[in-house]
Amino acid sequence: MDINSKIEAFSSLQKPQVAALKKLGLFTARDLLFYFPYRYLDFSKISTIKDLQAGGNVSLRGKIKTIGSRFSFHGRMSLAEAVISDDTGSIKVVWFNQPYLAKSLKKGDDLFLAGMPEYYNQGLQLANPIYEKASDFPVHTSRLVPVYHLTAGLYPKTLRNLIATVMHLCAQVTEILPAGIIHNQNLLTLPETIQFSHFPEDEGQIKKAQTRLAFEEIFINQLAAQKHRLELEQKQSFKIKFGQKLIGSFVKTLPFQLTPGQKKAAWEILQDLEKPLPMNRLLEADVGSGKTVVALMAALQAAAEGYQVSLLSPTEILAKQHFETAKKYFISQKIHFGLLTNAYSELDNGAETKEKLQKLITGGMPGIFIGTHALLAQKVKFKKLALIIIDEQHRFGVEQRAQLFTKAKKVPHLLSLTATPIPRTLQLAYYGELAISQIKSRPAGRKTIFTRLVNPQDRQKAYEFINRQIGDGRQIFVITPLIEESETLETKAAKTEFENLKKLFPKRTVGLLHGKLKSAEKEWVMSQFLGRKIDILVATSVVEVGVDVPNASVMMIEGAERFGLAQLHQFRGRVGRAEHQSYCLLFTQKEDPAILERLTAFSKTFDGFALAELDLKQRGFGQLIGGKQSGWNFKFFNPSYVALIAPAKEEALKLLKADLNLTNYPLLALQIKDKIVHFE
Ligand code: ADP
Ligand code: MG
Repeated sequence: MDINSKIEAFSSLQKPQVAALKKLGLFTARDLLFYFPYRYLDFSKISTIKDLQAGGNVSLRGKIKTIGSRFSFHGRMSLAEAVISDDTGSIKVVWFNQPYLAKSLKKGDDLFLAGMPEYYNQGLQLANPIYEKASDFPVHTSRLVPVYHLTAGLYPKTLRNLIATVMHLCAQVTEILPAGIIHNQNLLTLPETIQFSHFPEDEGQIKKAQTRLAFEEIFINQLAAQKHRLELEQKQSFKIKFGQKLIGSFVKTLPFQLTPGQKKAAWEILQDLEKPLPMNRLLEADVGSGKTVVALMAALQAAAEGYQVSLLSPTEILAKQHFETAKKYFISQKIHFGLLTNAYSELDNGAETKEKLQKLITGGMPGIFIGTHALLAQKVKFKKLALIIIDEQHRFGVEQRAQLFTKAKKVPHLLSLTATPIPRTLQLAYYGELAISQIKSRPAGRKTIFTRLVNPQDRQKAYEFINRQIGDGRQIFVITPLIEESETLETKAAKTEFENLKKLFPKRTVGLLHGKLKSAEKEWVMSQFLGRKIDILVATSVVEVGVDVPNASVMMIEGAERFGLAQLHQFRGRVGRAEHQSYCLLFTQKEDPAILERLTAFSKTFDGFALAELDLKQRGFGQLIGGKQSGWNFKFFNPSYVALIAPAKEEALKLLKADLNLTNYPLLALQIKDKIVHFE
């Protein structure tokens, strides 16, 4: 038996158990070692029988005085009954429906038992305790007992026994972290970590093991990020001259004054573009802060200098919207701008065939080319691409970002835009290699979106209000509850609400948008809404991103407690994008005071960053960034380990300075191979 042994090799396992283990992704002894418990039961204190009390988990050690089995409840249930005693007394123990126990255990056996004593027929008894033969190395009792995620057909004891059997193979695990780092950071080695995770002697060992795992994870994250940054620094990009005159005159043509935040961000970006180093910058600002115009200023500058720019959106509608904005803004500029998606193909102010547009791009015609990631498809080969702008960057999958890779000696500058506020404390963890510009100020004159948690009794009033708003020419969003892990259930909830609202508002047009629609169908529904063909749009969380429907004035959110505050804030940002006073109405069926408090806090807070911090404190990571899309799913690292980021970064940099290609650390190189951070 070694660390690579297949689970089929364990003679103790039956076929269904092997299948269950595989379902959990456990194929080898190594997999078992790395299958960490998600919590522990504290059975570490052994009580004497005399001191037992009802309630609370206890462990005890005793010998079987008597054991036998019988049927009870009119013969429908088998009972194994035993009396166990230690030096101080004895206690009755029963096991339901485990008749084989009476055969496998016998009088005189020395046992560890763990469970919760209770009163029964005037005496204390222990029902269905976990038991095992007493030994120096208990696995299921008399210790901190690991609890694992299981699946049908696999008992806790089976898995625990199995992991205990392979524990001695820990020594064969290859360490990933360099010895120097383990030493400097006072970390456990990997074998120790595994040992302490599964079978800790005390809480301290659990904590140390978890710290080591969190450190390793954030270290690898930093290593990937910093390696990428250092490599980028060795590359060349295009020096795009900052024409203050051009930018100044462009700003004068805008129908509004730039906010101080917009000016600062634009300045930072335009400064970066002048340098020969590839820019790698994130523009982070709350919804409605006006990121688009800032991005377009950079695009204008590059196009005016004779380069190509591509602006990529997550959806066709957004691309189209950006194109319309470009038309408005660039009408008097001497630059080209095009729209190229599956559905659209336009150049400057007129329709253009896709083929022609592609040819012009391939031929190197300077300009700004707006599209979805379809623009990255093989056919479109930019000849002078100097700047890539990615809108709503968190919606871009990792693979899509990888497609941006260019083998050319000169790499384009990259600017990505996001409305996901990431608490400052975590920015380094997520975007360690990026330069960040933030716009904190919002355009003047924006009305605050009236936000209320609506009392269930007032639902009817809310509907009447909505009806009046529609009567005034406005449009309504209704968001149905998030059902994690099940798009099917989520869609069902949306469909039900859709039917419900159609009945409630027979004279209004109700639309439906959910994740099961094909993307062209989604786009179509959104365009109907945008074109005011729909009064009320019922949608699942898919509606979250970017689209500007200036005429929508009410955002109604059902099951509001299911969303993170940052996400609620994104929804709220879908309304109030024009002059109309707008409203965000939250509904919950929960009466939990903590939930009500959280939602009430949301109704009074309008700063996305403050909400993100609050989310982080209350609900941890997961809610901040759209799970899978973030590109980083931390398994062990969480906000309580923020203090590990700085040392992890420092160690990563030290290592990379000596060995950028990680030639001496093949295992680490392998670990970061697939981690594309932001842009490559
Ligand atoms: P986001 O940051 O969410 O992408 P947008 O760029 O879509 O925001 O801008 C939201 C709206 O605000 C747009 O209609 C835009 O024209 C407008 N806007 C942008 N900057 C300003 C400003 N400085 N003053 C007034 N309105 C602005
Ligand atoms: Mg936007």
